[in-house]
Amino acid sequence: MTTARLHNTPADIAAAAALLRAGACVALPTETVYGLAANALDADAVRGIFAAKGRPADNPLIVHLLCAADAVPLVAPGEADKLTMLGDFMPGPLTVILRRAARVPSVVSGGLDSVALRIPAHPVARAVLAACGLPLAAPSANRSGSPSPTSAQHVLDDLDGAIAAVLDGGESAVGVESTVLSLTGDVPEILRPGAVTPEQLCALLGEVRVAEAVLAPLSAHTQAASPGMKYKHYAPRLPVVLVRGSAENYAAWCNARACLALCFARDAQFLRVPVFCYGAETDAETQARLLFDGLRTLDTAAAALQDAGGAAKLIIAAHAPAPNGVGLAVYNRLLRAAGFAVVEV
Ligand code: AMP
Ligand code: MG
Repeated sequence: MTTARLHNTPADIAAAAALLRAGACVALPTETVYGLAANALDADAVRGIFAAKGRPADNPLIVHLLCAADAVPLVAPGEADKLTMLGDFMPGPLTVILRRAARVPSVVSGGLDSVALRIPAHPVARAVLAACGLPLAAPSANRSGSPSPTSAQHVLDDLDGAIAAVLDGGESAVGVESTVLSLTGDVPEILRPGAVTPEQLCALLGEVRVAEAVLAPLSAHTQAASPGMKYKHYAPRLPVVLVRGSAENYAAWCNARACLALCFARDAQFLRVPVFCYGAETDAETQARLLFDGLRTLDTAAAALQDAGGAAKLIIAAHAPAPNGVGLAVYNRLLRAAGFAVVEV
């Protein structure tokens, strides 16, 4: 199939909506990352998402809506009321898990009795939602397991020829996937950290738990509350190691190895290996925005070095951010990209 390149024009928004109504998969910009959308009420259309991404069938999708009222037919009676208390962050980079209604196809929810809902803020995503009048199931628009896409080019790098169209809305402003908050238990629980932080949710809701799997590998016996957490994720082709320590010690560790550095701005002066700076050490928002582009860019740089006959076994050494605020989301993605390989220097 040829993947159409669409832009933010009324004609292209209408074209994207028509493709979605006809059951096709279309990649859309959102403020978090690009999503691969399909009609959430059409099980065949949703199966197309899993096929294009190579995504495991038990990893459920997030359903995107225009407003909280659109959630009512998708969730158990009374559940949609819970969204009103999150009004500050909806629309925004927040996904909420509620008990689902029977009309949500089980392929969307990976067989669970709950459903993940998000109201995106991105004007292009909202224009498509309004034009097609459908709830849209959309995971990140990358090949399963690879770094999430934050530009239309990233989507094409992974899925050109496998999806009907990509709608180019520029670079994603947040850069990491939404915060996933489960409201199905006694205490609200963060299953995946994102730009809406535990601190912000605590201030709004009182008690909020952060799931153990955010910072630890799941043991063989525990069941993942969020099935996505059990898979290797966000990973470039090169192995990643997460390095914790001062700028000087991080640089010394990198300089002693065949590696490329995903580093903070101040680290660069000490480094003698190829670098991608993903922001200042204290600027977690910038780290989040540049993280996935950095992993993809370093992968490409390594391939060029290897083609030129350079070191055969390169790794990416990522300087670890402090795991709080938005930094918790950055740390969580890097930890998974690294398969939990962390060194202290
Ligand atoms: P992605 O769309 O690639 O950002 O992945 C969606 C994330 O939300 C994955 O980590 C899923 O496991 C999680 N998720 C989606 N639906 C549910 C649900 N009903 N219960 C728990 N986690 C969910
Ligand atoms: Mg994903």
